[in-house]
Amino acid sequence: MQAFQKTKNQKVTKLITFAFWWICRMINFSPMKIPSKYIDEAVDQLSSLPGIGKKTALRLVLQMLNRSESEIERFSQSFIEMKQKVKKCSSCGNISDAELCTICENPARDPSQICVVEDIRDVMALESTNYFKGIYHVLGGIISPMDGIGPADLNISTLLQKLETGEVKEIIFALSANMEGDTTNFYLYKKMAPYDVAITCLSRGVAIGTELQYADELTLGRSLINRQPFKLNE
Ligand SMILES: [Zn+2]
Repeated sequence: MQAFQKTKNQKVTKLITFAFWWICRMINFSPMKIPSKYIDEAVDQLSSLPGIGKKTALRLVLQMLNRSESEIERFSQSFIEMKQKVKKCSSCGNISDAELCTICENPARDPSQICVVEDIRDVMALESTNYFKGIYHVLGGIISPMDGIGPADLNISTLLQKLETGEVKEIIFALSANMEGDTTNFYLYKKMAPYDVAITCLSRGVAIGTELQYADELTLGRSLINRQPFKLNE
């Protein structure tokens, strides 16, 4: 009976140890002791960034420790300058070093065609395609009642002001293909109804490289509805 109790206790101890290890892993917490409060503080700062856990932060901090003082100064100075000098373009909301971003002030871009996006990263993604020659308008988010984000929180009024000029011919909705994106599209569409402007949105369909059998029903259905005339070399 005693032997049975001992085995049972060992099993419980093992289970508790495993549970502790698993919880530590889940919250990316390591009970390691850092023998320097300065390193500890640097690790804390770095790991406050999304996607960087304590272990990764420590590895990066120890790398930095091996760099020369001038290198570290250049490193930190670049962040300070970035914070002080980068601003939002007063026209489109894209990031910029000047009042207007490089896209808005480029005379080769067509201001009558505005592509509406959620985030500055969307501008970068679309620019990398080299297909678009119009300008952008960054909303700074999308309508999401679940997250408490409403139209008043977004950069919408300046977009409508651009339509007031009568110079805009096309608005392209390039928002996320989800419920929040669709809600925002609908809201903007209603707001733009009084203006004489063509409203288009990015086509939605099967991604390049996707095998048809693995595409979800919604995407596949939309691809079928939005089918296009077949063109060679496309
Ligand atoms: Zn701009």
